Amino acid sequence: MNPNFLQTPIPYLKGVGPNRADILKAELGIETYRDLLHLFPNRYLDRTSYYKINQLQPSGADVQVVGKIIHLKTVEQKRGKRLVATFVDDTGQMELVWFRGHKWIRENLKINEPYVVFGRISKYGSTFSMPHPEMELLSEHQKGLKVAMQPIYPSTEKLSAKGITNRVVGKMMQQLFMESKGQFPESLSQPIMEELRLISKSEALFNIHFPKNQELLAKAQFRLKFEELFYVQLQLISKKLIRKHKIKGLPFENVGENFTSFFGNHLPFELTDAQKRVIKEIRGDLGSNAQMNRLLQGDVGSGKTIVALMCMLLAMDNGFQACLMAPTEILATQHYNGLKELLGKMDVKIALLTGSTKKSERTLLHNQLENGNLNILVGTHAVLEDKVQFKNLGLAIVDEQHRFGVAQRSKLWHKGSPPQTPNGGTRGAPPHILVMTATPIPRTLAMSLYGDLDVSVIDELPPGRKPVKTVHRYDSNRLKVFKFIKDEIKKGRQVYIVYPLIQESEALDYKDLMDGYESIAREFPMPEYQISIVHGKMKPADKDYEMERFVKGETQIMVATTVIEVGVNVPNASVMIIESAERFGLSQLHQLRGRVGRGAEQSFCILMTGHKLSEDAKTRLQTMVRTNDGFEIAEVDLKLRGPGDLMGTQQSGLLTLKIADIVKDNQILKTARYHAIQLLKDDPRLEKPENAPILRAYTKMMQNKTIWNYIS
Ligand code: ADP
Ligand code: MG
Repeated sequence: MNPNFLQTPIPYLKGVGPNRADILKAELGIETYRDLLHLFPNRYLDRTSYYKINQLQPSGADVQVVGKIIHLKTVEQKRGKRLVATFVDDTGQMELVWFRGHKWIRENLKINEPYVVFGRISKYGSTFSMPHPEMELLSEHQKGLKVAMQPIYPSTEKLSAKGITNRVVGKMMQQLFMESKGQFPESLSQPIMEELRLISKSEALFNIHFPKNQELLAKAQFRLKFEELFYVQLQLISKKLIRKHKIKGLPFENVGENFTSFFGNHLPFELTDAQKRVIKEIRGDLGSNAQMNRLLQGDVGSGKTIVALMCMLLAMDNGFQACLMAPTEILATQHYNGLKELLGKMDVKIALLTGSTKKSERTLLHNQLENGNLNILVGTHAVLEDKVQFKNLGLAIVDEQHRFGVAQRSKLWHKGSPPQTPNGGTRGAPPHILVMTATPIPRTLAMSLYGDLDVSVIDELPPGRKPVKTVHRYDSNRLKVFKFIKDEIKKGRQVYIVYPLIQESEALDYKDLMDGYESIAREFPMPEYQISIVHGKMKPADKDYEMERFVKGETQIMVATTVIEVGVNVPNASVMIIESAERFGLSQLHQLRGRVGRGAEQSFCILMTGHKLSEDAKTRLQTMVRTNDGFEIAEVDLKLRGPGDLMGTQQSGLLTLKIADIVKDNQILKTARYHAIQLLKDDPRLEKPENAPILRAYTKMMQNKTIWNYIS
């Protein structure tokens, strides 16, 4: 085969032409033979069996029947005409029906010749009928490229409106296989294929489009899924290797004054084993020659902040500055205050930079950052502004990183990388990067999403934490819930009441929140009760003020939207009420619940809903009631939503996988990852002759950017 065969523009394919080519491009992104070849069917109809007319069931299934047309008639009806054929076999008779295209059908249909008809069965009175069947003369059917399982290709309204039906796509595919003689270059190595008993590329492509039977179809799917995941992993892993090799890190060789003094004199509690382990992992990275790019996962309340602080102290000990970014102003402020408290009397210069930092303060801050008088900067996105330049940023930490886009993260890379030479000649290494998230991602998924990040997990909560008790209550039980709240407040506790806030119906949500606030204010009157309210429409200063009051314990109830979702830490708050809980996703519910259970007291989470609940909503609520384990919740979430909605998948391109599904095909993903790692260990440059097919395919993919490009 001509090596460039697959690059052939699609209009060259017989039966396509410029018009169809335009539609194919617009609707399915198909421009070349290769694109068409990789348009995989969504599902298959089983055409391996033939039904007799007396076996038909009104099941709505697509079936095929062999028989003859003995009669054709046109039936007048209110809206236009319908063409009805009487179709018989040796067991009975049925009708084939057309509502359009009569002329063509009348002229082309052959009476009394055996046909195979295929389509959806419906029943009118006692007669079965098949509207707009696919028809093929039995003689043709027998000699045609035998399609036993009929593939159903992805389609769009436009495509079918313009006559590019499934059948037409099938025909184009046949044409492509005829022109290529079904021979396609192999893209996996013999040893891998043998070990996994994979069928060849050509065989797989043939059977994905024209499967003879279920078994071959399954083999074809396995081979192509494996291949797809294998190449994604190969790319991720080799990028990581290249990064470790090429991108020099700033060596943090010293464990100095600050770290030691903090560890010795200022630690307010004993670190958990998990925290110790994670700090060790991070120190390993920082001390090596490579730039760190690490994801720190830890459930809400697992104590990530102190880990972040100790790493920043290490940066200081090595003469570098550090910064910590948080997604919201509230959170950044809280981090700032928390860190200051932890640092106590230590001589560390730390400052806060957010959108509402005053201009005069800002200018001062900029100067201090540039001349190195400031050691640690805590802030929001404001940190990313171009004006903010560091003297020598050595470590950047991003908290709750899913709130930040990949692009923003990559900005950090280029922030204030210190020039290595005194005259500023060469650009130095980028800062080490630590991203922290409380949204647990199942481990294998994390590997494929963040394959070029290293992952650390804090899988242990500080001692003495009582798991939050979670219940589901219907709105009709509200009075009992109010009573419960009052009892808790009497004991000196504080309460969150959270309302959903979903962008599309912001106005409506706002109304819900305000209505809720009013009814709560009525139920919990001043001066006995004090209520704070925080929502997205408030000015930051007002938000902070309300938040402060709650943190200080001046108010007992915090009515809020999900702005309090991440990070807020008020250990005395022991009750979390979530209104319209059915409207929240699992990870959000889990985050919100994480706001309580931070003190020594027993905490509660009450999920309020109406009576009408979808199946998914029920599953979410039951999961929350059943478990406090973030990883377990993440697994359920993944199953419910698929990877599409999960953080990071958008950027990672895992959504554009053509055939594999990282959730359903998790086992194949693991296998693919294993083999990619083994391959690169054994033959890092893919120089061995047996790996030539892989090298060729990989190079081609990189040229065509078939696999996405990960930026981190
Ligand atoms: P998150 O991982 O959600 O960011 P934080 O860092 O906010 O968690 O920690 C949650 C709470 O647990 C804080 O009040 C913190 O002081 C406390 N904490 C953290 N680590 C420990 C520990 N090892 N022992 C006791 N309390 C801890
Ligand atoms: Mg936190």
